[in-house]
Amino acid sequence: MTKTYDYLIIGAGLYGAVFAHEATKRGKSCLLIEKRNHIGGNIFTENRNGVNVHKYGAHIFHTSNKEVWEYIRQFAEFNRYTNTPIANYKGEIYNLPFNMNTFNKMWGVITPQQAYDKIESQRSQYKNKNFLHREPQNLEEQAISLIGYDIYEKLIKGYTEKQWGRDCKDLPAFIIKRLPVRYTYDNNYFNDLYQGIPIGGYTAMVEKMLEGKEVRLGVDYLKKREELNKLLSKDTGKIIYTGPIDAWFDYTLGELEYRSVRFETEELPTGNYQGNAVVNYTDKETPYTRVIEHKHFEFGTQETTVISKEYSAAWKPGEEPYYPVNDEKNHELYQKYVKLAAKEKHVIFGGRLGEYKYYDMDKVIESAFKAVGKEI
Ligand code: FAD
Repeated sequence: MTKTYDYLIIGAGLYGAVFAHEATKRGKSCLLIEKRNHIGGNIFTENRNGVNVHKYGAHIFHTSNKEVWEYIRQFAEFNRYTNTPIANYKGEIYNLPFNMNTFNKMWGVITPQQAYDKIESQRSQYKNKNFLHREPQNLEEQAISLIGYDIYEKLIKGYTEKQWGRDCKDLPAFIIKRLPVRYTYDNNYFNDLYQGIPIGGYTAMVEKMLEGKEVRLGVDYLKKREELNKLLSKDTGKIIYTGPIDAWFDYTLGELEYRSVRFETEELPTGNYQGNAVVNYTDKETPYTRVIEHKHFEFGTQETTVISKEYSAAWKPGEEPYYPVNDEKNHELYQKYVKLAAKEKHVIFGGRLGEYKYYDMDKVIESAFKAVGKEI
């Protein structure tokens, strides 16, 4: 007789792995189906000559949720990595996020009051001259009204235009409602209580989560629905689906849109290429937005290094979906799919694609916890 399962989990990314781990712990049987030829989903890391390469983009774990932090550390030891990206503007280096180090480099100011006065004078000059006391009409006006001219010109304009493929004057103001500005000499990008990188890479961490679980790689569930559904326990079996929600319904209501990123990864015969894991290129002329040097996430001392140049790219149907598009059109379409999904009594839609939501890793874990709690 064919073995059947309480849960068929579609997708062996972080959401699927947390669900599988927790359900198994509670005595349920799970089978994971993954269409890629590896586990881990987008947090997958690939070992290249000792360097763990973040294949689908740089991933830094950060959270203020103690429960999540303790949970994830069952599966890996985390190092002390703190994200301190830098910006390269035509060869000038600035610390990010905007803080006293950035202001000191930009204007030579030393005290927080001097920095505050400088920013305030740039903001009010621009406001008096251009805004005529009206609301900012586009991203450029919004950025200058928040941070002044110099930082906008050198650190925001080019980077944002590359990201969106449009002039800042043609982008809506709401994209940057606030900007993180710190009047301290603190280069830590995140405000969260806990952060780090799993020593040995994310793939090893997910492997540990999936220890003893059955995983079928290289299988697209949607292409074999009928056959695979036979593996579900009759009447009680459920599907946890972490793929794109619109694909589940065969795009009957239309396709949800994504923003994409393209990575060019190369190994270089040098021990240290840029001295930092993350360097943003904030000028318009450099075609890529960031360069990631993967070894610095784990303080690597290998003889060679691996870097990835990140290019912002328009997304086309069929390509790897990265960031959901947060606009009204896509939100409305997603809500229509949610209504259809509610009718699928034996399916739980979860994770970044199933819920069409940008989720950091800690939020994915929280969301999977919630689903397990409700289910079992
Ligand atoms: P995924 O990782 O996408 O897993 C879903 C899995 O389902 C995939 O493996 C996919 O192949 C599989 N699948 C889909 N359809 C099918 C099908 N039909 N059949 C079988 N399998 C299928 N978060 C942070 O906390 N810190 C960061 O620094 C960070 N950086 C990021 C950088 C980028 C560029 C991006 C895009 C995201 C970043 N994130 C970061 C978010 C993080 O990637 C997500 O939180 C996490 O990967 C989501 O896990 P998931 O399981 O929901 O989705």
